[in-house]
Amino acid sequence: MKVIPTKEGIKQVLARHRALGQTIGLVPTMGALHDGHLALVKQSISASDVTVVSIFVNPTQFNDTQDLERYPRTLDKDLALLEAAGVDYVFVPDVMEMYPEQAVLKFDFGRLETTLEGEFRPGHFNGVGIVVSKLFHIIQPTQVYFGQKDLQQVAVIRRLIRDLSFDLEMVVVPTLREEDGLAMSSRNTLLSKEARALAPIVYESLSRAKDELLKGAKWFDVKKQIEALYREQPKLRLEYFELVQSDSMEIAQTLNDHDSFAICTACGIDGIRLIDNLFVA
Ligand code: AMP
Repeated sequence: MKVIPTKEGIKQVLARHRALGQTIGLVPTMGALHDGHLALVKQSISASDVTVVSIFVNPTQFNDTQDLERYPRTLDKDLALLEAAGVDYVFVPDVMEMYPEQAVLKFDFGRLETTLEGEFRPGHFNGVGIVVSKLFHIIQPTQVYFGQKDLQQVAVIRRLIRDLSFDLEMVVVPTLREEDGLAMSSRNTLLSKEARALAPIVYESLSRAKDELLKGAKWFDVKKQIEALYREQPKLRLEYFELVQSDSMEIAQTLNDHDSFAICTACGIDGIRLIDNLFVA
């Protein structure tokens, strides 16, 4: 496994693979890797000839400087995990390498910018759009791997790929969870013991809402019930709990037979922000 910090370095090695007609799988990450990331890596290794993992904590997608500063960074451990998994290249640029000057280009993903994550993290998807576009241009992957855990990000990137005609295939990998249902996340390591004990409520509330909906309950009533559940715990701050049409991410009030739906949620537990989602049918 080669660890490469520069754009020129990674372009050079990948040009050789491309000349041989090999396919290149890219798994973009911000590091602090866990089994969820490794599920993406495994899919890439099994489907693509060459696997590149990028590790870059992208400052332009953080709307909160404190969140950026305390984001976990565990590079040595990450590299050991990737080497054991059989990754070929790890691209580890620093901020100057990715942003020699501040990007002035702004993406506007329309409705995706103003709902759910877009609403609670202004500018977040613009930063995601910029860094992902840069990575696509630098790596020129054949396949890219993203997690369902960040469902709205998947919708944003699908749009980016279509609107900018990136010639690649996006593979979406189901969410890996801890035994108690908590979605694996780099931010979980920041949870205090007490906060970790409360965290399963995120998946439990999604599962309960899904069950109620499928039993025929009205979304309005289901949502009210879940909001009340969160209000019982002063350490929890529910940001949103919404039923959405899962391709457009448009907020919905009822299910129908032809669309696919998901329930999406974000909450703060003792100041740490967690997101999760569950497909309904
Ligand atoms: P991050 O490092 O948080 O930016 O995540 C990098 C990629 O891993 C994104 O495509 C995430 O959606 C994906 N990912 C994060 N957590 C999980 C998980 N628990 N299961 C599956 N994929 C995940």
